[in-house]
Amino acid sequence: MSQNAAIPSLLPVYSRIDLAFERGEGCWLHTRDGRRFLDFSTGIAVNGLGHCHPHLVQALHDQASRLWHVSNLFRIEQLERLADRLVAHSFAETVFVGNSGAEAMEACIKMARRFQWHRGQAERNRIVTFEGAFHGRTMATISAAGGAKMVDGFAPLLEGFDRVPFGDWAALEAAVTDRTAAVMMEPIQGEGGIRPLERQFLADLRELCDAHDILLVFDEVQCGMGRTGRLFAYEHLGVTPDIMGLAKGLGGGFPIGACVATARAASGMTASTHGSTFGGNPLACAVANAVLDVMLEDGFLDQVNARGAYLREQAEGLAGRHPDEIELVRGTGLMLGIKTRRNNLEFAAELRAAGLLVVPAADNVVRLLPPLVISEAEIDQAIEMIESCCRARAA
Ligand SMILES: *Cc1c(COP(=O)(O)O)cnc(C)c1O
Repeated sequence: MSQNAAIPSLLPVYSRIDLAFERGEGCWLHTRDGRRFLDFSTGIAVNGLGHCHPHLVQALHDQASRLWHVSNLFRIEQLERLADRLVAHSFAETVFVGNSGAEAMEACIKMARRFQWHRGQAERNRIVTFEGAFHGRTMATISAAGGAKMVDGFAPLLEGFDRVPFGDWAALEAAVTDRTAAVMMEPIQGEGGIRPLERQFLADLRELCDAHDILLVFDEVQCGMGRTGRLFAYEHLGVTPDIMGLAKGLGGGFPIGACVATARAASGMTASTHGSTFGGNPLACAVANAVLDVMLEDGFLDQVNARGAYLREQAEGLAGRHPDEIELVRGTGLMLGIKTRRNNLEFAAELRAAGLLVVPAADNVVRLLPPLVISEAEIDQAIEMIESCCRARAA
């Protein structure tokens, strides 16, 4: 197809908001012309410690003047330390580090298939996933999640994913066969509109997986790393996966992702079966270790819980006062969704005009993803901005 219109120098795959920031400080973003915004978008749940956290800046500077990159041909101290710490603080016994969420989920998918192959069950190579999911933009991850917006025009998709409606137990049970290697899901859907799964559903799922030797894979790329008030969302849910993908908050703004797993689930991943040139480089791992330094400090996650409860209470209050604008509030910790009764993109634009940055999601939701270091006073400011928008709409 020929097209005469010139293409911008930047591939136009994003419809960007016409707003550029010059610097960030804590929970605030500043433009060159002196405007400031309260950041409840955090680069989509990435800047968990806010912008330019002094401990992260220091770690990056220190590492930058020492060593950036050597490749996995050699031992990498920062990477080994990161892996040890992720193992010490999760169900996992082993860790692969890459550069993004999609790469983390690719590793999860490969590991699950390889597990079955390795134990002589190569025919068990299918993965059950959920509608409304988001696992990234690579061929495997779009094939896993489906959805017209992501897959149209990109066929042939990768074979081997069986999608079921979100939270539909009967459909899930029916989709699990003797060809199933794993069930893969976000325990709380992010892009899907901060949709949580019932605890009982997850408990039943764990049982189903155990009964059939199927691996349970959690995508905690968005809901992990302190977002929910625990280091990982699965800790809230009473269900432990076999494999888990992490990214976003792990680097606090520096690109890094990880696939973490039990020894058993990872048993097929022997030397030369997977890799990444940049994965686990000293710069990224130094920053991720600095993120962990802060998140593992005594009381840090307790504070996230307290702030999450406070934000929830305030948001519920808002919903109660403006039932014509807000249908409901859902989510856990500092990962909240406000389901609006009008258009969520318009709502987000109005909030932005009032000085608050939020992230739209599916199901007419706007996501509140503040830095985990948010103060009560800043939460109050955000609630006031949302309230002013609700009032203006009602008027
Ligand atoms: C963002 C996200 C991804 C993809 O991460 P990228 O770093 O953009 O590749 C995967 N899964 C979930 C749940 C996400 O929120």
